[in-house]
Amino acid sequence: MHELSIAESVVRIASAHAAGRRVTRVDLRVGHLRQVVPASLEFSFELLADGTAVEGAELVIETVPAAGRCRACGDESEQEGLPLRCARCGGLDVEVTGGEELLVDSLELEEETELATTGGTGT
Ligand SMILES: [Zn+2]
Repeated sequence: MHELSIAESVVRIASAHAAGRRVTRVDLRVGHLRQVVPASLEFSFELLADGTAVEGAELVIETVPAAGRCRACGDESEQEGLPLRCARCGGLDVEVTGGEELLVDSLELEEETELATTGGTGT
């Protein structure tokens, strides 16, 4: 369950940045080579977000394509997956240059006005 540990980091990072406010949306960039199952990550995220500032937030997962640079010919190409193979010479000595990302790109926080509406507006 490697999605669970990813979700754990995401919730921790988002909570830290929220600084007491509620998080409504989390944008996540995940490299293709991380082999994350989005549905599984979303499930873990919802589970862990429960009872935190991130509860109910929408998780948006953007997949970053894999890319590699060939050590033999220097060509850089987009990769389908592992093993990496140079698109130009077919060599397998390819250095990963993209697709290993795993980061919280941005957060959307609830406006503070939302918290100030309790009381005083009764009919
Ligand atoms: Zn090559």
